[in-house]
Amino acid sequence: INETLEKAKETLLSVSIHSIQRVQDLQVKTASLSSGNQTLTNQLWRDALTGLYNRAYLDQRLFQLFESAPPLSIIFCDVDHFKQINDRYGHAIGDQALIHVAETLQDNLRDNDLLGRYGGEEFLMLLPGATLSQAQNVAERCAEALRRNTMPIAGSPAIKLTASFGVSSTGEASAIDAHTLIEEADRAMYTAKHQGRDRVVTYSRPQ
Ligand code: GH3
Ligand code: MG
Ligand code: MG
Repeated sequence: INETLEKAKETLLSVSIHSIQRVQDLQVKTASLSSGNQTLTNQLWRDALTGLYNRAYLDQRLFQLFESAPPLSIIFCDVDHFKQINDRYGHAIGDQALIHVAETLQDNLRDNDLLGRYGGEEFLMLLPGATLSQAQNVAERCAEALRRNTMPIAGSPAIKLTASFGVSSTGEASAIDAHTLIEEADRAMYTAKHQGRDRVVTYSRPQ
């Protein structure tokens, strides 16, 4: 009987060691799947060049932000004469310049604000809680930072980058939607281009 008991004990021990190993294996697999999942989510919502949010993310967040209390302001930013940068220095330096702009803009936003790359050399900032004039100040600060913060490159003088900014806001209680807000900021940005670039224009909504 003793021998049988001993055998049974041994079998039980080996079964439980096996189970522990299986659980550990599964834990490792789960952790790896979860980190893979995070990588995929990151790739889905981020721009590969600058690491900023991408357009899909911004569109979705903007839509969600309309659910929370106004005001909500946005800034549309388009780099000036960017094609000339590519033509003159090549595409690789052009890419670096976009990263430089992205970093400069990011440095001038608060933690609560969202910055993303909306298109080629276009950036969009979402400023929850900011009034039109507060957003205008932020845009002015970004424009000034770009002017001051030239991009150093090897073998030639630093590159001067400027951008045109269009600002729009929901105001306290307006009935406009996400699509309209973007269109307004875009129109203000084009006005800034027409007025000579390197400036901020706010959209004034007809009463
Ligand atoms: P404007 O002041 O009127 O905005 O002039 P612009 O030259 O900035 O505007 P345009 O739309 O003519 O040119 C945008 C350029 O941005 C053209 C395109 O090749 C370049 N571009 C877009 N995406 C990228 C990118 O990812 N990398 C680089 N290097 N260039 C890009
Ligand atoms: Mg553009
Ligand atoms: Mg441009």
